[in-house]
Amino acid sequence: MTKPPLTLYLAAPRGFCAGVDRAIKIVEMALDKWGAPVFVRHEIVHNKFVVDGLRAKGAVFVEELDEVPGDRPVIFSAHGVPKSVPATAQARQMIYVDATCPLVSKVHIEAERHHDNGLQIVMIGHAGHPETIGTMGQLPDGEVLLVETPQDVAALAVRDPAKLAFVTQTTLSVDDTAEVVAALKARFPGIVGPHKEDICYATTNRQEAVKAMAPKCEAMLVVGAPNSSNSRRLVEVGARAGCGYAQLVQRASDIDWRALDGISSIGITAGASAPDVLITEVVDAFRDRFDVTVEQVVTAEENVEFKVPRVLRQPA
Ligand code: SF4
Repeated sequence: MTKPPLTLYLAAPRGFCAGVDRAIKIVEMALDKWGAPVFVRHEIVHNKFVVDGLRAKGAVFVEELDEVPGDRPVIFSAHGVPKSVPATAQARQMIYVDATCPLVSKVHIEAERHHDNGLQIVMIGHAGHPETIGTMGQLPDGEVLLVETPQDVAALAVRDPAKLAFVTQTTLSVDDTAEVVAALKARFPGIVGPHKEDICYATTNRQEAVKAMAPKCEAMLVVGAPNSSNSRRLVEVGARAGCGYAQLVQRASDIDWRALDGISSIGITAGASAPDVLITEVVDAFRDRFDVTVEQVVTAEENVEFKVPRVLRQPA
């Protein structure tokens, strides 16, 4: 039987970013250095396939530090942790390695600097996301106020409207965030912002690639996890940029083939925590059903790399 033709657009960049790559390397190197089990506080990155792979090698994932025995090493996830977490690990004399992405740490430092200058901080982010919890937890309670939408800005009760700064989560929608920043600047004209924006290069680049790809394709799939903020944003960006059907899939078995019946073009991208092997699996699933012609939609080249912490570069 002849297969129907399909143009498969692949967004570039897509998939792993430098912070995710580094965090996974940290767990692997910790397992090499100290042997199993190595404990990891929270999913090291938001991807079940990655987490299951590390678990099979001897990583144990927990949500809180008190679940970790004092004589085993613990790693903090790429999303960052409140200051109280390393402080507790230190008090318990634990071996710990912080896999917080350097671009998240940069936001932590920025928030602290504003606080030292006497400013109250408004964080634009998603309530309950570990990165938001980690960034808010760099400062005492009440020093960081969280907003998600322009409506939240209207309802904000601040200590002193003349002494404010804002920071953002690194994985937000660039366009939604611009609206919230505009609302903040309209209500608090003196508010201080980041020198260079907090949304990271990987989030920005993946959203730009989706914007370029979405108008070309009848449907779009984002390979990523439901708890991955940057992956979910890619689905929203794709739908807003004109793609009639944009869906998140964790892997090929999630694809709803009935919804894709009769299409002649598909766009594929992946969130920053989705490994290449899952993207290949999804592309191969299309090759099984269609006569596929692949076209890359390239909007940026990435060559960012972050070093792993020194403790892992030294012999045990
Ligand atoms: S998405 Fe951005 S902030 Fe998050 S780990 Fe990757 S590079 Fe770092």
